[in-house]
Amino acid sequence: MLVRGVPPPTPVPASLADAAGQRKVDTPAMPAPTPDDALAADARAAEDALAADARAAEDALAAGARAVVERLRGAGFAALWAGGAVRDQVMGLAPKDYDIATDAEPEQVAALFERSVPVGAQFGILRVIHAGHEYEVARFRAEGPREDALHRDFTLNGLLYDPVADELIDHVGGLADIAARRLRACGGDPEGRFGEDWLRILRGVRFAARFDLAIEPRTWVAMAREAQQVLSASAERRRDELSRILTEGAGGRGFALLAELGLDRALLPEVSDPARARARLERLGAAAEDVGWAVLGYDWGDPAETAAALGRRLKLPTRLARRIGAIVALARALPGYPALTVAQRKRWTRDEASGDALRVAAIAVAANQAPAAGWRAATEDAGRWSPGELRPAALVDGRDLAAAGHAPGPIFKLLLDAIEDAQLEGHVRTRPEALALAERLAGA
Ligand code: ATP
Ligand code: MG
Repeated sequence: MLVRGVPPPTPVPASLADAAGQRKVDTPAMPAPTPDDALAADARAAEDALAADARAAEDALAAGARAVVERLRGAGFAALWAGGAVRDQVMGLAPKDYDIATDAEPEQVAALFERSVPVGAQFGILRVIHAGHEYEVARFRAEGPREDALHRDFTLNGLLYDPVADELIDHVGGLADIAARRLRACGGDPEGRFGEDWLRILRGVRFAARFDLAIEPRTWVAMAREAQQVLSASAERRRDELSRILTEGAGGRGFALLAELGLDRALLPEVSDPARARARLERLGAAAEDVGWAVLGYDWGDPAETAAALGRRLKLPTRLARRIGAIVALARALPGYPALTVAQRKRWTRDEASGDALRVAAIAVAANQAPAAGWRAATEDAGRWSPGELRPAALVDGRDLAAAGHAPGPIFKLLLDAIEDAQLEGHVRTRPEALALAERLAGA
């Protein structure tokens, strides 16, 4: 592969194909197989097949990204891969999406593809759907490729790649910074660059955390000096970066950087004890968004209310905010789990958020912030009951109670809940038993 721009430092692979090859792990020498190894071999074969599928999907995504470039070139436009995908490949990671930079206007791009979605026409961005994959095609951020690269946020994100010529184009020293595992703002003036878009400070935290990068001193000084300006970025953009810091697998480091910048409380006033939150996040790997936020919110006194407040402030989708609150509430109930009745345990276990709550609670236990007993008991119960035992079909409903002479009213719900409890406990199994229980309770 050719490298244009700044000369590449040595530790960087000679071509992107080699870089991608780094993902392959050499199989260690194995002892001679015995018959007992047959099952393990089957399991390995299944794993290999899954890995091959994943690899094929990655290759198809990359092939499509190359085809998009070729089509733009065929129409006389400049086109290059840009940003995160190039960075990921140089780092030996599989890009999950490809951004393409071009000198074509969105309308010109749209005319070349069967399907496209305008996502930010005013910024020159169009989402193209090609061969079943989506690609973001964006007009150069400035005059041409060089200026485009210089207008990106950090040098590791400022690399361009020509997939036709297999040429890496580095106008910003991104290769050297990736090799040194260093985060550096593009261009010589970090403060000026952050001033163009304060969110970049938060992006810097995210990339430094995710790739475990040292932050170059001038970049860090500018981040620290201007940190509070991040609060002027829109709630949606802050939300998206924070969500990614919480979910990309380095939440602890991300949160530590936020604390160093004096941003932990400022960005997340709902977190009452940042040191405890950080201790939990350090134990969280890559996670779904709801779990990431729930680990952050494990301390909340009123989970539903606080999750809703967080949701309103950061414009989280209502469903997500509700689910975060539900996970935290369930996880927080676990210290009392050993004292619950069987019916209560079954209700806890059958909650659709219980699996996520167990994961969050495991983290709180590991961080010495919760006793282990409740979490352990609930974990043991997780596989204990069949779906029918967790959700037995109702033996009676409101009409049955009315037919049996009970006066309709709020009491119905109490009676039906009590009957279900008795079912879950195994005390009531038939309709007559259920009606007899209702009779006893109503008469009491
Ligand atoms: P990820 O893998 O997490 O998606 P990414 O680098 O692809 O990381 P995106 O937000 O998808 O991040 O942005 C794509 C590219 O656009 C970045 O690599 C960077 O070059 C550029 N970019 C994105 N946001 C900004 C910004 N606020 N300021 C300057 N450049 C940006
Ligand atoms: Mg991206």
